[in-house]
Amino acid sequence: MIAVRFLVGLLLLCATPALASLRAGAAKVDITPTQSCQLAGYAARTNLSVGVHDPLSARALALEHDGRRLVLVSVDVIAFYRTVIDYIRRPILDACGLKPEELVIAGTHTHAAPKPALDPAITHPNNVEYTKTLGSKLLKVVQDALAAQRPAHIGVGIGASPVGVNRREPFLDKKGERQIRLGRNPDGTTDKDVQALHVRDRETGRPLAVLFAYATHSTSLGAKNLFVSGDVHGLAEQFIEKHLGNGIIAPGFAGASGNIDPWFRVLPEIKKDNGWIPEPVLLGTLLGEEVVHTSNKIQEFTQDGPIQSIIKTIELPAQMNQMATVPLVLTAARVGNVAFVGIGAEVFHEIGRAIKEASPFPHTFIITHCNGGAVGYLVVKEAYAEGGYEVRVSPFAPEAADIVITEVIGLLKQLRAN
Ligand SMILES: [Zn+2]
Repeated sequence: MIAVRFLVGLLLLCATPALASLRAGAAKVDITPTQSCQLAGYAARTNLSVGVHDPLSARALALEHDGRRLVLVSVDVIAFYRTVIDYIRRPILDACGLKPEELVIAGTHTHAAPKPALDPAITHPNNVEYTKTLGSKLLKVVQDALAAQRPAHIGVGIGASPVGVNRREPFLDKKGERQIRLGRNPDGTTDKDVQALHVRDRETGRPLAVLFAYATHSTSLGAKNLFVSGDVHGLAEQFIEKHLGNGIIAPGFAGASGNIDPWFRVLPEIKKDNGWIPEPVLLGTLLGEEVVHTSNKIQEFTQDGPIQSIIKTIELPAQMNQMATVPLVLTAARVGNVAFVGIGAEVFHEIGRAIKEASPFPHTFIITHCNGGAVGYLVVKEAYAEGGYEVRVSPFAPEAADIVITEVIGLLKQLRAN
């Protein structure tokens, strides 16, 4: 008996190095609505959807190292706000035994997908039903990704794309005063980074997933569109998966895109006549091709950990009422040298760039509309004097952005020190 115990102990000891290597699994589930729903993102649009242009999906990448896990879930919907995110996250945490900081769920911010909502008093019954079904589908996609985990290694690449453009367009009003409107400002700054994470089966070299983040609103389609679509990010995901084939899964995330729109924005229809390529398809394909180029060029792969993560809700000063504060959910995670920052708001690109530049990690993915939190724009201080739509509707006071940057860098340093 003692000899057997010794042998088992020896075997466990031998197995230890393998346990401390990275494992990864990816999964996808179709979340296209099966009945007409209210689409999200434009308050004035009350008509129900009339058809489907392209399918919606949720995609999960589950990573594990030395018993610690990180599950990144991209969902082709606008975002999840306070009550809905708890409804979605709780069953996943309970059923999968995940800690709150191990689960990152974000909407791609397409404005051509059903609005996730649960309150029957203010929501169409079809949307309530859709949201309940979505909850069980998201649980399944996380379970499937965890079950698919196998020895893997990861590599990171950075490309660049012109798909997103600064949308704060200056103009002179009737009094000759400079104002800002939602439009196209090609002279304004943006963040062209296409961040790609390539995940491969360590034993066979087979690609399992290509995760990406890119800073643009997914709003090629506007308030008059009534067709379901993943818009720019969704069509990029679909293109990558189709082009690379072999069951590869491409979770996409909106980077810091609060003031970035696609080059062609808020169009009334999905135009196809006389060989016209619908703009979301054109832009999604352009973005998807850059993700493929970028991930194909990655040379260095690593199986190193550790995996660590933190989730934290901070209270930020409010714009409307100086006595009140507005909560914001921050998630920071690392997988070896790769960091992920999740922010539960619509974030100006300058904030994402500042975080990437000051991060103690060589690669820091920015994921917005993440893990719920505030409805609204996180705007840089300088923009408050200029005005414009995002400033008018932001719940946050001008100093909020700097507080968030400092908080996030603090969380990343905490992860780096471990
Ligand atoms: Zn938005």
